[in-house]
Amino acid sequence: CILKFDTLEDVIDRANNTNYGLVAGIFTSNINTALQFSKHVQAGTIWVNNWLVYNVQADIDLAVSAAKAAFHRNSEWRLLDASQRCRLLNKFADLIQRDAKYLAELESYDNGMNINKASEYIDSRIKFMRYCASLADKIQGDTIPADGDVFTYTLKQPTGVCGLILPWNSPISNFVTKVTTALAAGCTVVVKPAEQTPLTALVLAELVKEAGIPAGVVNVVPGMGSAAGSSLTHHPDVAMISFTGSVEVGKLIQKAAGETNLKRVTLELGGKSPLIIMNDADVNTAVRYAANGVFANQGQVCIAASRLFVQSSIYDEFVKKAVEEAKKIKVGNPADPTNHQGPQVSEAMMKKVLGYIETGKKEGAKLLTGGKRIGTEGYYIEPAVFADVTDDMTIAKEEIFGPVQSILKLDTLEEVLGRANNTSYGLSAGIFTNNINIALQFAKHVEAGIVCVNTYPAGAYQAPFGGFKDSGIGRERGMECVNEFLEIKSVSIAQPKKF
Ligand code: NAD
Repeated sequence: CILKFDTLEDVIDRANNTNYGLVAGIFTSNINTALQFSKHVQAGTIWVNNWLVYNVQADIDLAVSAAKAAFHRNSEWRLLDASQRCRLLNKFADLIQRDAKYLAELESYDNGMNINKASEYIDSRIKFMRYCASLADKIQGDTIPADGDVFTYTLKQPTGVCGLILPWNSPISNFVTKVTTALAAGCTVVVKPAEQTPLTALVLAELVKEAGIPAGVVNVVPGMGSAAGSSLTHHPDVAMISFTGSVEVGKLIQKAAGETNLKRVTLELGGKSPLIIMNDADVNTAVRYAANGVFANQGQVCIAASRLFVQSSIYDEFVKKAVEEAKKIKVGNPADPTNHQGPQVSEAMMKKVLGYIETGKKEGAKLLTGGKRIGTEGYYIEPAVFADVTDDMTIAKEEIFGPVQSILKLDTLEEVLGRANNTSYGLSAGIFTNNINIALQFAKHVEAGIVCVNTYPAGAYQAPFGGFKDSGIGRERGMECVNEFLEIKSVSIAQPKKF
């Protein structure tokens, strides 16, 4: 609606003549007019010579400077005893436990994750938080028998301001894992949640405050990767980036670090994880684990068992049972706990997954069940099972990140080891067999950061989690996780003479 006005005085009165007062704007080259308008217009946000121009760079700068101030050597955070950091992180965990139901509902609403899965992830992350909190006061250096008349020891110190960039597939888990680890080490952080799923990060930020973690220690800035994410990775005051997401963006982050202050980078990236079923395995058990391994969370899991190799003598029986298992999966509203699978996170992801299914068919894989969109509302896909998949097919090579099981045939362990490793990824791998020597040989030679035997997937919070090759750099969880956020300083003190 375009209205005419005469004077500034007149338009301010008319602009204010409403029950609302959210946003107002003015275009003028007269600074006094702009100042007068900003003073008298009744609105919470005023834009001058712009409209809806959100300056994310300024927000990142603000967040980084808050994190930098909170990291100052005399800050409240830096002067806390390590045991106090432990106490604060446990308090944060208590609050997540208190609000777990609400957080699970919000996660399900925001991301499409089934409510039961969301609750399961939250419960497991609370355990990790308590485990990780307990590491805060166990960060110790060494005394070193150095040559010469010196006393030498090491200090392990927090790296500084860390940028934590999160993916959309498991927002709470990623927020909690990265923030808790960084804080246990004594760092301060700026968190950039994925643009598709910012809600739970904002609620968790409120809980950080309620827990009594000092202001500036945890900052959350939602925004697009190419704007907010990129500003963070290029920021000269950010000492480290901990990133989870795609390989493509992981490489951009390393490049940004190289072009700026050589910030430390840890990366948790994608996978094309092989799961091997040998003919001495219990087929029914293997079928169940293989289905859960690839279909859980709509297949939007970095450790999805997306290459399933089955030994030839049990292949036909396995495929038949795998189809029956996939058909049991109830797809529907993620808020309904009786459903197993919800929608894909976005229309773009749904189209990408359906595109892979079409490519699989065109390249000659046999689609035995599923693979179609369900209905026209929401982004639901029927769990798909492909048999007769070969190594050269696109669905056997690229990460699909959707509910698609690809079954390949294998002859011997020796042969399948080469094929399992013939990928740029190296995140997770699994084998089902009753032969311990085969299992040990596989665990030793497969190129993956996480190996499962007669189970899939494995992700105990007490064990390190991360990948070989393009699947990433560094490890989350486990005792070593805090080391990623620590600098080691060696101190040598001259002594008059050795004693
Ligand atoms: P993505 O890489 O597109 O986005 C991840 C995050 O990076 C988002 O917050 C995004 O805004 C941000 N980002 C995008 N461009 C950026 C840039 N130029 N600079 C800085 N930040 C930028 O990935 P996604 O689509 O959100 O997630 C799917 C991918 O993540 C899959 O490949 C999956 O395998 C992987 N993933 C891996 C793990 C793991 O633990 N290894 C866990 C979850 C997801």
